[in-house]
Amino acid sequence: MANEFKALVVRKDDEGKTRAGVETITEDQLPEGDVLVQVGYSTLNYKDGLCIGPGGGLVRTYPHVPGIDFAGTVEASTDDRYKPGDAVVLTGWRVGENRWGGYAQKARVPADMLVPLPDGLTTRDAMAVGTAGLTAMLAVMALEDHGLTPEKGTVLVTGAAGGVGSVAVAILARLGYQVAAVTGRPEQADYLKGLGAAEIVPRDELTEVTRKPLEGERWAGCIDAVAGAMLGRVLKQISYGGSVAAIGLAGGAAIEGALITPFILRGVNLLGIDSVMQPYDARVRAWGRIAADLPMDKLHEMIQPATLADLPDLGAAILKGQVKGRVVVDVNA
Ligand code: NDP
Repeated sequence: MANEFKALVVRKDDEGKTRAGVETITEDQLPEGDVLVQVGYSTLNYKDGLCIGPGGGLVRTYPHVPGIDFAGTVEASTDDRYKPGDAVVLTGWRVGENRWGGYAQKARVPADMLVPLPDGLTTRDAMAVGTAGLTAMLAVMALEDHGLTPEKGTVLVTGAAGGVGSVAVAILARLGYQVAAVTGRPEQADYLKGLGAAEIVPRDELTEVTRKPLEGERWAGCIDAVAGAMLGRVLKQISYGGSVAAIGLAGGAAIEGALITPFILRGVNLLGIDSVMQPYDARVRAWGRIAADLPMDKLHEMIQPATLADLPDLGAAILKGQVKGRVVVDVNA
């Protein structure tokens, strides 16, 4: 059939077990939407690992096509803002979770979910950035909005060898910040220094839970992908008036060992960053900053290329914290 294309489809059997595999599907199977996109690239994120596997409560109906972000070219549109040939990028809006996402050669979505690709970014660049990079940029912007400047001191990035962490290190270093990168993988020290980290902090140094109300002021700010015991410790080490941009919970859903003291004795701010429901204007602003401020040469160093067929194994690996940098999926390979 003329409108056949490939997709990674996750099916659930009668016993509730999920299985992901590459299948040929047709356009009429896609969800409703104003814009039909020829997908060029998608990426692998922690949430994708959940959606490729058991679902983690994110997927509502099966069969399901995961892929929480994609970049591609408009094939058809009933919305005046987009015409065939326009390059577009999508992140968030629970695409790839409760509606079919980017692990397919075509996707159909409401126009409001898309952003025009800024000049200077290719669709592959955009997915090297992806949801992880957008989140890293939103975190940097939130820290700056709360007064962070390079003169204030060292900025800590936790979960640094992961997707969000790697891009956060590269952006901060490009903007002139002194960056300390926390990693549980000492073998990634050279990679992180290559991205611009000035200092590597072993994960163990920051995961011991203490009851101390405060520790020495060590960091002017932090982008935290980990939460758990790490965030509990880091909050006690933030300098007076500094902020932590909390983006993820790879190390646990609680903030272990945290006390109120950093907030009332040092005026520390805890800023929650959510890339999923960002309004259109905020997404356009962040993508503009990405096009302007992200060192693309560094970004290409953190890319691991993948195909749709690689995703079942890679999805399992990201859930174990074994993926380095950004996995960019060429859905047409
Ligand atoms: P990755 O798996 O690529 O990176 C997470 C990193 O955290 C790992 O590489 C590892 O880094 C570190 N880590 C993993 N497990 C632990 C642990 N038990 N204790 C301490 N550190 C650990 O994931 P992403 O970067 O894609 O996402 C990170 C988090 O951010 C996830 O929770 C994800 O759901 C969330 N997220 C949130 C977004 C938002 O909008 N707020 C958007 C995108 C992601 P290392 O080996 O260097 O220690």
